[in-house]
Amino acid sequence: MLKEKKRMEQKQKRVVVVTGGSRGIGRAIALRFTAENPKLIIVHYDPDEKASDETLELLKKNRVEAMSRKLDVSSWEDVNAFFKGVIEQFGRVDVLINNAGITRDTLLMRMNEKDWDSVIQVNLKSVFNCTQAVLRAMMKERYGRIVNISSVVGQIGNPGQANYSASKAGIMGFTKTVAREAAPRGITVNAVAPGFIDTEMTAVLPEKVRESFVQQIPLGRMGAPEDVAETVYWLCSQAAGYITGQVIHVNGGMYM
Ligand code: NAP
Repeated sequence: MLKEKKRMEQKQKRVVVVTGGSRGIGRAIALRFTAENPKLIIVHYDPDEKASDETLELLKKNRVEAMSRKLDVSSWEDVNAFFKGVIEQFGRVDVLINNAGITRDTLLMRMNEKDWDSVIQVNLKSVFNCTQAVLRAMMKERYGRIVNISSVVGQIGNPGQANYSASKAGIMGFTKTVAREAAPRGITVNAVAPGFIDTEMTAVLPEKVRESFVQQIPLGRMGAPEDVAETVYWLCSQAAGYITGQVIHVNGGMYM
């Protein structure tokens, strides 16, 4: 808390890393941080840098010091080399948003080993990789905010998503454990579990499936990436400094 006050008083820019920040929910999160003028690094994976370039442009329009980096978050070596570079360049990481994720949907009877492994590695192992890579530096600063993007299906399951829901449920357990380990050093670790959000990830679903999802949402609409970004940003604010180890559901009432 003291460290946090000092940082605010000195008006130090926070160093913020958003994985999967090139598009969808990650882009909305990155843009939400423009409110405080941070040093922002977005991580993406596609060699076609169109989406990440667009996000950078939007950030720079908001006069934010931003850069992007192509990186496979499922690679322990690459992630560690990346964060080593960030910490050398900026001195610390204040905020880590573990948002990168993929789907490889199919019923369990048809799911092959590759579908299972790639989803677990990109969605869950990445959270271990990135969190472990920043934790020592955050502990040294006695300050840090980590938000992991889980999913409502990690809570309630969904046919065709055994790999995905397992990865997202894993994030919830990981979040609670690391929250306990890191709390004595002033670091909060929380998860946000979005429901059905309008991004490229859900755009690929057949119209009938999308309609059936919307019918399960009491608020009667898909969520917008900004709905998720708002909660993520709040969890990283001083106002949420006493909240750790929680899973905040942003789902229009789909799961209560
Ligand atoms: P999206 O539009 O498909 O964007 C995914 C992001 O992850 C992209 O920036 C992508 O980078 C990045 N990424 C994928 N694989 C990566 C890898 N190996 N290394 C680094 N970056 C990688 O997805 P979204 O809908 O915004 O979802 C964001 C997060 O929210 C995910 O964790 C997802 O599971 C979760 N979520 C989404 C929903 C939903 O309804 N949309 C619901 C619940 C939870 P490139 O652009 O370079 O490919």
